Amino acid sequence: MKKIIIAIDGFSSCGKSTLAKAMAKELDYVYVDTGAMYRAVTLYFLRKNINIDDKEQIQSALSDINISFENLNGINTTFLNDENVEHEIRGMEVSEFVSPVATISAVRKELVKQQRLLGIGKGVVMDGRDIGTVVYPNAGLKLFITADTEIRAKRRLDELMAKGMKADFQSIKKNLKERDRIDSSREDSPLRQAPDAILIDNSELNEKKQLELALAYAHERIVYITKEENRPIS
Ligand code: C5P
Repeated sequence: MKKIIIAIDGFSSCGKSTLAKAMAKELDYVYVDTGAMYRAVTLYFLRKNINIDDKEQIQSALSDINISFENLNGINTTFLNDENVEHEIRGMEVSEFVSPVATISAVRKELVKQQRLLGIGKGVVMDGRDIGTVVYPNAGLKLFITADTEIRAKRRLDELMAKGMKADFQSIKKNLKERDRIDSSREDSPLRQAPDAILIDNSELNEKKQLELALAYAHERIVYITKEENRPIS
């Protein structure tokens, strides 16, 4: 069967990465968490006090950043210049600063370039905000995920608490709404549903049901694309 690119976009904390990881595991595809890449850049900028209005500082910082992923005991783990930053990039400080950083065109240009390299010749499930619209406009399958804001905030709170991180419901909800606002209104690659993306509202769906649904779409597309590629030229 042909290996395809699966693009999963949508609003903050609506379970995109949980779905993407599970799909990658089922299909034996590579999973790429593009949000983690924007978070790692943000952490670097915070640590080095980069002025986000200074183009030269940004460009020079970007050339010093190397982001990589490793699977540690079954957990997809983000490395910033060979340091494991998986825990730190999920905290509130990075969450509050990441969307303004993600509006910077130089940052997007560099990360989109890396994201395209990660997909060459492989079956990939990639989640983010602009995967189906900008990074892979020709993806074999595009999903756009959404869910009710209250439900998303509650899920995020549970996730952070399970990791032993400090968080409260109201500030999480405020942060989600603010990130959605900035992500949807930025000039460069705003968060949008691609015209050919399938919309999934998972407010009332559990993880298992959502995975079954998404895998059914994936299989349908994989079979169709494989058939099309093998069709004799008449
Ligand atoms: O996916 P996650 O919530 O970890 O992403 C963090 C932030 O990174 C988003 O709120 C958004 O500002 C930015 N992002 C983006 N484009 C992507 C992935 C994430 O702008 N492809």
